[in-house]
Amino acid sequence: MIETMLTDPSLVRRADADRVPEEGGTSVVNPSTGEVLARVPVIGADGVRAAVDAAEDALGPWSRRTAHERAEVLRRWNTLILENRDDLARTLTAEQGKPLREALGEITYAASFVAWYAEEALRTYGEVIPTYDRDRRMVVVREPVGVCAAITPWNFPSAMVTRKAAPALAAGCTVVAKPAPGTPLSALALAELALRAGLPSGALSVVTGDAETIGLALTSDPRVRKLSFTGSTAVGRILMRQASATLQRLSLELGGNAPFLVLDDADVDAAVLGCVESKFRNSGQTCVCANRIIVQRPVAERFQAGLVAAVERLRVGDGFEAGVDQGPLIDEAAARKVERHIGDAVAGGAVVLTGGRRHRLGGTFFEPTVITGVTSDMAVAREETFGPVAPILVVDDDEEAVRLANDTASGLAAYVYTRDVGRVWRTVERLDVGMVGVNTGLLSSAFAPFGGRKESGMGREGARAGIEEYLETKYVAFAGLDPVEGGQDGHAQTTGR
Ligand code: NAP
Repeated sequence: MIETMLTDPSLVRRADADRVPEEGGTSVVNPSTGEVLARVPVIGADGVRAAVDAAEDALGPWSRRTAHERAEVLRRWNTLILENRDDLARTLTAEQGKPLREALGEITYAASFVAWYAEEALRTYGEVIPTYDRDRRMVVVREPVGVCAAITPWNFPSAMVTRKAAPALAAGCTVVAKPAPGTPLSALALAELALRAGLPSGALSVVTGDAETIGLALTSDPRVRKLSFTGSTAVGRILMRQASATLQRLSLELGGNAPFLVLDDADVDAAVLGCVESKFRNSGQTCVCANRIIVQRPVAERFQAGLVAAVERLRVGDGFEAGVDQGPLIDEAAARKVERHIGDAVAGGAVVLTGGRRHRLGGTFFEPTVITGVTSDMAVAREETFGPVAPILVVDDDEEAVRLANDTASGLAAYVYTRDVGRVWRTVERLDVGMVGVNTGLLSSAFAPFGGRKESGMGREGARAGIEEYLETKYVAFAGLDPVEGGQDGHAQTTGR
């Protein structure tokens, strides 16, 4: 059981979720070993309603606290997350499989959203608009949206929770969060720490259980004013349709199919390093990871050789073992998808340069794989693989590279390697995506706006933009200020007053 791994076992035992009825339970399984780590409640529609009741009860008191008071709670939450970093990372590796080193990195990343939004809470400024009439004043104030729902995936079980909850709470909203069923313990532990930091009970609840039941209960409840979802485009579409009934505000952080462009003047060694970081982090299970490696012909051979050598150095194993670079895939379905993509590519004429099979460790461990001779019609290029496969497409010029890069319904992230500043801008401006890494394979930061275009979703998380998603705008017109001297003026006729 997970408790035996932790310095503070009560972290994953208690959470706001136990305010709502328990109807059976679901096992949380370590994907490296198959061990059952814990059982969490299956919360039905009634339980979700109870969590929304609690969030609504907490909304008034929480939103009426000053921004400075809310910031103070978030600062304490950040401190507690960092103080419990080891326990949180162990929980993450145990339920998700990623190497402990990456899990520690995710906890620091998760905490950085809390730290950032503690400060952004203080900057939710309104506006005073220059008036058109001496008798009037025009003011804009910002208010919290209200009760918010957050549905998060398993690939970043901690960071995706704080990336949504921290700006929501900073803005004065309250939150009902639904983590992925495979990785609920990280969310429960974070909610427990938020309570210890002084967040009122009910302001951040975690509900575990059947996704469809919980999703429907959250989207059909008119008291839930906003839904923030990170996950697949397919589920994003379902939730958008459901949320239309209550016209909930939406943030959708959906799937990607990132192109990774290596132009012929690139620093090839740097491109290899960036490609490994982007593609193989979290076993290739990140929404911004390079999904199509598009390389110009003059550097293709050198890049391929460098990539194969680097990938062959990656060590696969249990995330708790020292020196491991790549853990297992999350489940059997994920491993089968990787096999299907490789099989389809090979059948179409692609060549496996390294890897290509399940790892000898068995289970869902997979060999880090590089394939070349890939064409844009293959499944590995058309779909998000979400696994440790680097498919290389060789092109002749910048035009073809950009055309292939944009030839997808996704528009989340892209990467480009070149040393020519003119080429950088010409390429960046033509890429139809929300984020571009230039000469880097790593993009994410709490201080930058994260999000996509096209079928990769809408809205931004992180940076100043992230808190805007949780704020309403209220315009207030004050009149009767100057009744004697100037009730009327020349502008009144033209403003439609
Ligand atoms: P998923 O299948 O869409 O699941 C995401 C979450 O939605 C899970 O908690 C899931 O629970 C839940 N869910 C599924 N069906 C639902 C429904 N009908 N109503 C309400 N909730 C529902 O995605 P995933 O496989 O966990 O995550 C991988 C995907 O997320 C990839 O496409 C990746 O690119 C994307 N992602 C995007 C970002 C970004 O910021 N753009 C970041 C990380 C991941 P169940 O597991 O019980 O179905």
